[in-house]
Amino acid sequence: MSANALPHVVIVGGGFAGLWATRALARDRVRITLIDRRNHHLFQPLLYQVATAGLSAPDIAAPLRHILRRQRNVEVRLGEVTAIDADARTVALAGDDGADDSRIGYDYLLLASGATHAYFGNDAWAEHAPGLKSLDDALGIRRRVLMAFERAEAADDPAERAAWLDFAVVGGGPTGVELAGTLAEIARHTLKDEFRHIDPARARVRLIEAGPRVLASFPPELSDNARLKLERLGVEVVTGHAVETIDGDGYVLAGERVPARTVLWAAGVAASPLGALLDVPRDRAGRV
Ligand SMILES: Cc1cc2nc3c(=O)[nH]c(=O)nc-3n(C[C@H](O)[C@H](O)[C@H](O)COP(=O)(O)OP(=O)(O)OC[C@H]3O[C@@H](n4cnc5c(N)ncnc54)[C@H](O)[C@@H]3O)c2cc1C
Repeated sequence: MSANALPHVVIVGGGFAGLWATRALARDRVRITLIDRRNHHLFQPLLYQVATAGLSAPDIAAPLRHILRRQRNVEVRLGEVTAIDADARTVALAGDDGADDSRIGYDYLLLASGATHAYFGNDAWAEHAPGLKSLDDALGIRRRVLMAFERAEAADDPAERAAWLDFAVVGGGPTGVELAGTLAEIARHTLKDEFRHIDPARARVRLIEAGPRVLASFPPELSDNARLKLERLGVEVVTGHAVETIDGDGYVLAGERVPARTVLWAAGVAASPLGALLDVPRDRAGRV
């Protein structure tokens, strides 16, 4: 049978789901096209380490082409899927200018395009409070965090300096807990003795959770334990309050404006928008 006569499986997304599905089909008589808008597979669980300068990007990302180089039935394609025509069985890929560039036909389509940040209708907050999903996000957060200490060191005005040393993480799930804990470790330990005009250990790291406890998806005793450990690291844990607004100067919490130059978002996820292109029921978070 020529390769073209084999069933064509198109897999969108080279994360855990898409990559493992690709591997699971290694011995099947199919031809696979794995499409991702990024050229790499990313180990998201350690993203916070890149965001806080503990690891570098190649430690947690590897090119999809390299990972799959020996799997002969797969072709990797770099591109962003922007449309799906389920009747014609094609997906459209965007070109560099964002316009539909080419269409790829399929016999079977697997959507494994992951999740994205949700700002609960406050999309304007995204600019001031970046979330952590991709390598670009992690490198952007790393830049912000390290620059905050530099700006504090250079600031003459005490209020300005305090605002640069005020860090807030919104959302007390696993990502928020990891980020806040690591920020406190950086401030208290990693940067010790490295500055002359500021004491990084005096930085305020706040973890803000709207619900009654952090790590709400875990048993309560683990939440209590996490809170205790965070507080021992110097993190101020605030529960039961949702951030009311976020802008370039800081945020408002319980009616009080807090000048803080570094606010990070770990509060919400929504399903990849690709699910909305299918004519199928979805839940409130957009999941098929
Ligand atoms: C910071 C962080 C920490 C985490 N820690 C843990 C942990 O400790 N333990 C745990 O079990 N889980 C953890 N998770 C969750 C875990 O990483 C995810 O559940 C998992 O990555 C989901 O895999 P996926 O393949 O569904 O999606 P993803 O890994 O997100 O992969 C989706 C892929 O689709 C691609 N894509 C998206 N849209 C398009 C498009 N339109 N066109 C082309 N390509 C597209 C993306 O580039 C991406 O490569 C963490 C997640 C994050 C963000």
